[in-house]
Formats: sequence, structure tokens, C-alpha cells
Amino acid sequence: MKYLPPFFSIDELVGLVVPQCEELARCAADQGLALTPELLRLAVRVGVMEPEKIRLLIVPRVPMPRSPEIRSVFTAAGLSLEHLGSITQHHAIIMREGQHRRSEIWCHELRHVAHHECFGGTRGFMTVYVQELIHFGYGLGPLEIDAKHAELLA
Ligand SMILES: [Zn+2]
Repeated sequence: MKYLPPFFSIDELVGLVVPQCEELARCAADQGLALTPELLRLAVRVGVMEPEKIRLLIVPRVPMPRSPEIRSVFTAAGLSLEHLGSITQHHAIIMREGQHRRSEIWCHELRHVAHHECFGGTRGFMTVYVQELIHFGYGLGPLEIDAKHAELLA
């Protein structure tokens, strides 16, 4: 384990981040855009089961985790929170302005949607994702490597 804040278990860390993730997902569900037919087809190609549920929220800046403990874990894992281009929370994809024109980002984030479906939602996904961040570092865990491979479909 590279970095785990003292006195926090994985479940506690995940519990700190899930409410904000679910808030973002609700916001995208209310205000987000549905996928174009072309993106719906791409979603199916990368393994998404329910692509019609996906909503895109374009924001000036992707929000950072509010929890300082989670920010510490992400930063220690090598994830640059200041420069996040996009994040996925279950069927919500949140992208910084301009990023949605990059097809490889779509493949990557849609594959993370498929991961969320596979793990049964945000809590299931984050439980695995946070452990991978701590154990392997950002970009080196199986979920990130899998999403990176999906970029080849762009
Ligand atoms: Zn990723």
C-alpha cells in the first residue's frame, strides 16, 4: 500500500467520496445531455449495458473531491486533480469544456460506465477503484489499464 491516511479503512474512504459522486450523478441525470446515436453505438461497443441512461454534463472545471482524505489518496497516487479532464460516476460523464471533442476520451469514460455497471454502481466501483489507486497508483491499476485499452477503439 502506497498511501492510506491514518485511521481510515477502505470502506471509510469510499464512504467519504460516494455522496459527492452520487450528487454529481443526480446533477447529470437532471441537467445532462443524452448521447448521440453515434455515441450510443460506441457505448455498446465498449461494453455498456444501458447506454440510454448515460448523461453528459459539460462543466468549466471538473469538481475535486471535497474530502481532504480522498484528495490526499488521489494526489499520492499521482492523479492531478487540478487538471482533470473528465470523470464518470455510474451513468454520468462529467467533462471539462472542450474535452467532449476528443474521441479517445469518450471510449475511456464509456468503459468506466461499463465498469460501474459491472460493479453495481458508484459504491461498488469506488471500492475497487480506490484500492487500485492505493495499491498500484493512478493509471497502473487494472480498471485504468482496461479503460486505456478501450481508447484504441477511437
Ligand atoms: Zn480512467
